[in-house]
Amino acid sequence: METSADLLYPRRPTRQINVGGVLIGGGAPVSVQSMTTTKTADVEGTLQQIYALAAAGADLVRCTCNEVAAAEGLAQIVPRSPVPIVADIHFHVEMALAALEAGVHGLRLNPGNLRKPSEIKLVASEAKDRGVPIRIGVNAGSLHPDLYERFGGATPEALVESARQELAYFAEVDFDDVKISVKASSVALMIAAYRLASETFDHPLHLGVTEAGPPPGGLIKGSAGIGTLLAEGIGDTIRYSLTADPVEEARAGRQLLETLGLRERRGLDLIACPSCGRAEVDVIAVANAAQAALEHRQLPIQIAVMGCVVNGPGEARDADLGIAAGRRRGHLFIKGKIVRVVREDEMVEALVEEAERLVAEGVEARLAAADPNAEAEAEADRALLLDAKGADANQANVRIEAIHRRTDAT
Ligand code: SF4
Repeated sequence: METSADLLYPRRPTRQINVGGVLIGGGAPVSVQSMTTTKTADVEGTLQQIYALAAAGADLVRCTCNEVAAAEGLAQIVPRSPVPIVADIHFHVEMALAALEAGVHGLRLNPGNLRKPSEIKLVASEAKDRGVPIRIGVNAGSLHPDLYERFGGATPEALVESARQELAYFAEVDFDDVKISVKASSVALMIAAYRLASETFDHPLHLGVTEAGPPPGGLIKGSAGIGTLLAEGIGDTIRYSLTADPVEEARAGRQLLETLGLRERRGLDLIACPSCGRAEVDVIAVANAAQAALEHRQLPIQIAVMGCVVNGPGEARDADLGIAAGRRRGHLFIKGKIVRVVREDEMVEALVEEAERLVAEGVEARLAAADPNAEAEAEADRALLLDAKGADANQANVRIEAIHRRTDAT
């Protein structure tokens, strides 16, 4: 069967690198990254955050290595981390070398920050000796001034040229274990830069909209930029940059990949109708209550909350499970088939219970366990609602007559 991912542009072929056991590029699953916000010297606090990020969906975590104490912290964090650790080096070559000594699985170098060719080559050479990949992390906001001047600003061409120059330094020491990012806070600029990078290099690309800001704006920018490129087949690993708890970044990254069908669903996908005049319940309140009750249960299914029993089960027939409201009752349905009718105040509770049983027992078993009277009860509710509101809730016939009266009169 065709999956969602099959409907996207084919993934662009890239070479593959291995960051501490996580494969990136070369057809590997697109991975999710995030970054800790703790002081890296705070080993226990940082590890706690790394575990939370891994649980939320991060496949790799980056930590800052800005001082000797941070490098010392990394030496203790790396062996206890559940996921590979990448060190972010700022301006000092010593910190890159210290992070390598600490045993990190990857480095991120910003060509705009670490500028001396001799230092860049020294780090690449040491990384090569240890089999540690490097991300060339170009950033529009910290582009090398020479490139800024030459290209008249942080253009897509300037960002890609920065990565190309860094690759050339690496090549001098025969190092090519690289992934590349060309981030910008402008979504349009980063999309153009990554498109160009993907035409220019065959290295895996790390996608991100930098300094996207707090949610919801930051989430929208990240999704617009990263989602557009992934749909075009571009990108091998992603990071949302949010001004928020980094757990939100990891969760958003994983959710985006699941939404596009690029990673297997491991969390809940809650869908809900937008509500309309037909709604028999406060859909927003029920959907929020269902989300709160279900989101931490790691149920890899799609659940629908629908405002009315007239259209709900049909509109959400592809959902694994759903509930539709009508006449102060909730119709619980599995794959569009009504399995139980419950009181309105029991809707969320019944949904949670059925979701857990569905995951544990499977669709066939739960359909077999359906209340034999449910379908007839549901049909009676639907019929009564159609009588009360009419099959045409907008009273189209009456309106059409009114339109004719008005247009005939002119
Ligand atoms: S399911 Fe019912 S309430 Fe929800 S949008 Fe559709 S018609 Fe309206």
